[in-house]
Amino acid sequence: MGWFVDFKCPNCKYEETGIGVGRGQHPFPILALFSCDNCKSFGSTWVDENKTPRCGACYHEGVTLLADDARRVACPKCGELATITRGEGDWK
Ligand SMILES: [Zn+2]
Ligand SMILES: [Zn+2]
Repeated sequence: MGWFVDFKCPNCKYEETGIGVGRGQHPFPILALFSCDNCKSFGSTWVDENKTPRCGACYHEGVTLLADDARRVACPKCGELATITRGEGDWK
């Protein structure tokens, strides 16, 4: 089961809302939070066992994955501290 989070940077106002994270009925793949240095975006991407995760936006390999319960992260656009908050609802 998964849930949704909102990403907000108070400094540069970059935000992404309704980002899905978590997993379905199987251990893999998992929908994990990432921050991409290549296209400077934040979001979630499917991560499969033994596969290199890719950016959900530009498909660049080698994105930085974050823990499901991360609450603070450096904004990929400006580098300042941004917040991650839990949004409404669940998904399966
Ligand atoms: Zn920012
Ligand atoms: Zn990217």
